[in-house]
Amino acid sequence: MLSLDLPQSPSSPELAQASRILVVEDEDLIREMLVLSLEEEGYEVVTAADGRTALGLLQEVEPNEREFPFNLLILDLMLPQINGLDLCRLLRYQGNPVPILILSAKASETDRVLGLEVGADDYLTKPFSMRELIARCRALLRRQRFSTLPQTSILQLRDIALYPQECRVKVRGEEINLSPKEFRLLELFMSYPRRVWSREQLIDQVWGADFLGDTKTVDVHIRWLREKLEKDPSQPEYLITVRGFGYRFG
Ligand code: CA
Repeated sequence: MLSLDLPQSPSSPELAQASRILVVEDEDLIREMLVLSLEEEGYEVVTAADGRTALGLLQEVEPNEREFPFNLLILDLMLPQINGLDLCRLLRYQGNPVPILILSAKASETDRVLGLEVGADDYLTKPFSMRELIARCRALLRRQRFSTLPQTSILQLRDIALYPQECRVKVRGEEINLSPKEFRLLELFMSYPRRVWSREQLIDQVWGADFLGDTKTVDVHIRWLREKLEKDPSQPEYLITVRGFGYRFG
């Protein structure tokens, strides 16, 4: 049994890494209260007190890190410089998929509908209960975790087909047996064709950040995978070594 779809699993790499939340709120007291409560829940929190600062933070993308810097955005609507609705609209226009929870004193139905229409995922009106806010954050983060898994039922590259839901792999039409770690590695590689992964990144994603072994484990698993996937494991066509960096697929 693979643990890919079980968020409760302690070995799940998605859980090992703390979710980063950006809180955009201009009222100091509310902002500080949010930071305290979210940090207590184990989240990493970054704050902005106006729309322009928030936009700057959201547009920072570190190429070798996660693709987007935040897992969740908690957004007030009435903000200096750029208001929450415009910020929301702009992020979606730019294709930023960060889940957005609007937190606002505007409680009318029209305001809620408008918030959701410009691309927010949830809406909570002030005053709010911290317990409810935390519960909603958790739900949004959980949803995001599932939506980042491949949505397609089959991942295919040339002669290799991987069926994520069924944990099966076919190579040149023949089904092959993979261990759970080999399967997870291959699924990761096939989900991001040609992306270069360092051994440390592969350890984080497949074994979890609390893994105690060393990075040679990755090389050993790559060798095993090559023996199962490649026509000639000494001349790999799929699992390519990128000297000085790590590995890529295809
Ligand atoms: Ca405000």
